[in-house]
Amino acid sequence: MIILAIETSCDETSIAILENKKVLSNVTASQIWEQQQYGGVVPDLAAKLHLKNMQKVLKKALTESQIEQKKIDYIAYTEKPGLVICLQIGKVIAETLALYLNKPLISCNHLEGHIYASLLESTKEWKFPVLASVISGGHTQLYYLKKHLDFELLGQTLDDAIGECLDKVSLFLGYTYPGGPVIEKLALRGENTCPLPLTKLNDTFDFSFSGLKTAVRRIIERKKLENNLTRLNINNLACSLQHTLAKILTFKIKKAFNEKKISTVALGGGVVANKYLTDYIQKFLQNETKNVKLFLPQRKYCTDNAAMIGILAYYKIAKAKKAN
Ligand code: AMP
Ligand code: MG
Repeated sequence: MIILAIETSCDETSIAILENKKVLSNVTASQIWEQQQYGGVVPDLAAKLHLKNMQKVLKKALTESQIEQKKIDYIAYTEKPGLVICLQIGKVIAETLALYLNKPLISCNHLEGHIYASLLESTKEWKFPVLASVISGGHTQLYYLKKHLDFELLGQTLDDAIGECLDKVSLFLGYTYPGGPVIEKLALRGENTCPLPLTKLNDTFDFSFSGLKTAVRRIIERKKLENNLTRLNINNLACSLQHTLAKILTFKIKKAFNEKKISTVALGGGVVANKYLTDYIQKFLQNETKNVKLFLPQRKYCTDNAAMIGILAYYKIAKAKKAN
């Protein structure tokens, strides 16, 4: 089956074409450069750029896949969550293509897509039950899946997402958006020397990162006042922040292991591109669990992309076919 998938939930215009689970093309026009000067994503600008980029992304995705339009069997798109005006653009394009090609439309959840991204170009399948986490710019969530597409939300952040926290800290330090890659680079030259608050280490699966973000901001402000915001201090602070985030996440993952049967851990979202974080979780799984496999998306499938919507649609279609 050939699936054409569209993702427009935030500031990436992305179209992918999949043959079953195989990615034939995945073309993304990112708006990072245009949005950078605002320190975040401006919804109106995002919508304007989706409209500007859509046609060339679609053309390129079709050309690279070497698939004729009439061979497409399904049109998938991101229905929610995301910026409403951006989602609407993806929906209208998907509906128009589905009507024009006379093919079924599959609506997809963006967060589920992030989790299914860990199955893209993987030769292995998840073993259930799965503990899954979306760690992105807008979300930090933990899910439990007893079978495919059966998402039980265990907990989520009550305020900032991890990605948001990294983005803000980068701005406090005078660097650009998105902050995650900036912090990762700084941290490579630093050490975990700065004690930061381990927020929400309690008996729930919920997270909270705004207090941690504020604590980092206060340290930066103090060091500025003392004229002591040196390169070394910045690097150490970045490393300590990553370490603290990894520790909080692993605490909740460990809690899930204590309370539930888990065979697989699947992570998804832009922050999962962070090697420090994923190495930390991998080490925990190796040391404290038996044979639990960690599924991570390839780096190119961590941030928003349409291939993850395509593979989610593949599993949704397979499930619907099985039910009939
Ligand atoms: P998403 O919301 O899934 O599109 O992911 C975007 C978020 O991922 C932003 O908050 C980025 O700062 C963050 N991000 C991207 N690359 C990295 C990285 N290497 N390390 C940490 N965070 C990252
Ligand atoms: Mg996302």
